[in-house]
Amino acid sequence: MNPRQLFLQHLAQTTDFPLLIEIEKAEGVYMYGPEGKKYLDLIAGIGVSNVGHRHPKVVEATKAQLDQYMHLMVYGEYVQTPQSQLAKALVDTLPEALDNVYLVNSGSEAIEGAIKLAKRYTGRPNIISCVNAYHGSSHGALSVGGNEIFKRAYRPLLPGIGHIVYGGFTDLEKINEDTAAVIIETIQGEAGIMVACSTYFQALRKRCDETGTLLICDEIQCGFGRTGKFWAFEHFGMEPDVVCCAKGMGGGMPIGAFIAKKEVMKSFANNPLLGHITTFGGHPVSCAASLATIQILQEENLIDQVESKANLFKKLLVHPKIKSIRNKGLMMAVEFESFEVLKPIIDRAIELGVITDWFLFCDDSMRIAPPLIITEEQIQDACKIILEAINDPL
Ligand code: PLP
Repeated sequence: MNPRQLFLQHLAQTTDFPLLIEIEKAEGVYMYGPEGKKYLDLIAGIGVSNVGHRHPKVVEATKAQLDQYMHLMVYGEYVQTPQSQLAKALVDTLPEALDNVYLVNSGSEAIEGAIKLAKRYTGRPNIISCVNAYHGSSHGALSVGGNEIFKRAYRPLLPGIGHIVYGGFTDLEKINEDTAAVIIETIQGEAGIMVACSTYFQALRKRCDETGTLLICDEIQCGFGRTGKFWAFEHFGMEPDVVCCAKGMGGGMPIGAFIAKKEVMKSFANNPLLGHITTFGGHPVSCAASLATIQILQEENLIDQVESKANLFKKLLVHPKIKSIRNKGLMMAVEFESFEVLKPIIDRAIELGVITDWFLFCDDSMRIAPPLIITEEQIQDACKIILEAINDPL
């Protein structure tokens, strides 16, 4: 089976494709299969469970909101309290200018909203995104994705999409007065953890300013503390015009958002029916979970610990078969010779009780993105098992 078929097998939940493992319960950094088999989760639901599985405060906040209400009419004269509380908490984590929050249900929806917002605000037709970018699976999000294999079957997609090389300075000239927005993962995730430098981000910001183009940072995978700052763009000394987030935002509950300057978001509000509408976006129960998640990240000081935990992984994962480790905080890619070398290692690690994975567009590298609550002892256990799997793959 080639990597793509294996990936499909990994995803498909039908009887034709048996699931690799079945999970019955999860708590903290651990997941439990049938008969109580314990797995250390090194991918955190792909960057979702940053505060761990079923964090007691997330569970408590969720239950408390269930006791109040679940969903109300959203386009009336009333607003759902958890939504306004969450919007305020989110804005407090961001630069002052980013003060308007639009809540949705997922990452892809955040991207869809941000693309529409950029077109509406600028009145321009084109969007530029990066080669090898992953922004989601809905049509708009797929259109700005940067991997042809994923797009081919769904053409025609959105017109007016151009691509630039992530981190490539000369490509910045492709951004011009017809460009509504540049959309960029601040750290490229599915490309296998690619990290551009501050100079690049500042040049990108400058080019967007020169051409009146909005800069949209996709922080869906890299936001919410994963890289050692609340937002990954904080590493690079620049501020985007729009931020998209989801995944880690809900502490395990589905939620997403795109956040923009008031002046930009106003273009949706001018005529709501021509703007953007969602029935469930920012579900109150998810908002309550997200509020608790923000509090946990801050109160438990989890973001400040990211760097030292990442360094411990890097110190322990030394082996002749490991070619390199790319990372920004606890967003890590451990590079091997090929997928053929990596896959039996991943399978063996799973057998030994450690869950890792590879990347959509980079199948020679092992994904490590554990819950940020992982302890030093758990990192040591995980690395010991990974090294054992490397020495004795399936
Ligand atoms: N953007 C990035 C960077 C992602 O990693 C993902 C999901 O993996 C998405 C967008 C899409 O998010 P969702 O799967 O919640 O629609």
